[in-house]
Amino acid sequence: MQVRLAGIKQESVTDGAGLRAVVYFQGCPHHCPGCHNPESHDPQGGYWADTDEILDLLCSNPLIDGITLSGGEPLLQPQAALALARGARQRGKNVWVYSGFTLPAILRDPFKRAVLEYTDVLVDGEFILAERDLSLPYRGSRNQRLLTPAAWQALDN
Ligand code: SF4
Repeated sequence: MQVRLAGIKQESVTDGAGLRAVVYFQGCPHHCPGCHNPESHDPQGGYWADTDEILDLLCSNPLIDGITLSGGEPLLQPQAALALARGARQRGKNVWVYSGFTLPAILRDPFKRAVLEYTDVLVDGEFILAERDLSLPYRGSRNQRLLTPAAWQALDN
């Protein structure tokens, strides 16, 4: 499957727990003031890549614990995000997803919520400059949450 990307980082220790590979999606509708990656906003920017080739490249590294889907907004291309998350899990890697959408908004959209089935940690919500806090692990502002499957399973019940 084709996916429009802003870039890839083969090893990172700041985009989730452990050593991770990061896929930065191209295109973001949130336009948060103070965004760390404004070049990723234009959905026509970036470049096309193939999800299987990305997975083969990133998951062949035995040192990484998992992959992180970031951006940009990964859930703007939910089927490609699903292919990457599912493929990473099949290759024995855990999955973190950074989305500017909140968990309730993700759950309302069947394409976005499908990605959660293969997500170990969701960091949800827009970056809010007034709530910026550099001391927070793995996120930029206090409104953003580190959520595990228990959070979305609880909302489903
Ligand atoms: S959601 Fe992320 S990439 Fe999108 S504008 Fe906000 S900080 Fe930037």
